[in-house]
Amino acid sequence: MRILIIEDEADLLASLAKALREEGYAVDTAADGEEGLYKAQSWDYDALVLDVMLPRLDGWSVLQRLRQTKKTPVLMLTARDTARDRVRGLDTGADDYMVKPFDLNELFARLRALIRRAAGQTRNTLDIGDLVINTAARRVTCAGQVIALTAREYALVEFLALHRGEVVTRTTLYEHLFDEDDNTLSNLLDVHVSNLRKKLGAGFITTHRGHGYSIE
Ligand code: CA
Repeated sequence: MRILIIEDEADLLASLAKALREEGYAVDTAADGEEGLYKAQSWDYDALVLDVMLPRLDGWSVLQRLRQTKKTPVLMLTARDTARDRVRGLDTGADDYMVKPFDLNELFARLRALIRRAAGQTRNTLDIGDLVINTAARRVTCAGQVIALTAREYALVEFLALHRGEVVTRTTLYEHLFDEDDNTLSNLLDVHVSNLRKKLGAGFITTHRGHGYSIE
């Protein structure tokens, strides 16, 4: 899953990006509204964390312009907790709303819920045969046994599972699993798929030659 954080407070931006990367997300950042809107329009992020008070273009304007073309789930951050702001956020198309200072674990949980809902899932577990993918714990179990996966392997399984039955193209996977600092020219994706097959069974991920991958 790939997330864009648009936040002008450098310390908060850096710590949020670090924390989300440790959670296994690919993370892009923008320090002002214009750069943020440009990135949000250019890529299909799984979610946006959007500060309200931003230089060049404020969070409301970013959201309003983004909503003309994209449904990306947006979690807004604000310094003020007023009903007027909350109403404005929801009316403009925000999907959720948090007041600074916020609890990091709560932000993680809200982002997971947004991403899940955007994929049409209301439960936080996905069952595929004997496998259970717990999106809250970011853990895969097979018949109750935890399967050790790297953060990237987990992200790949989760993305395919949330789009179960669909062929997900390599381009889409690169866009959602790797951030702008990753080297997308490498063949890491094949390595991850190959490792997952060793851990989860050869038939777990189907290759559609020339198209992409799927979990059936
Ligand atoms: Ca700000």
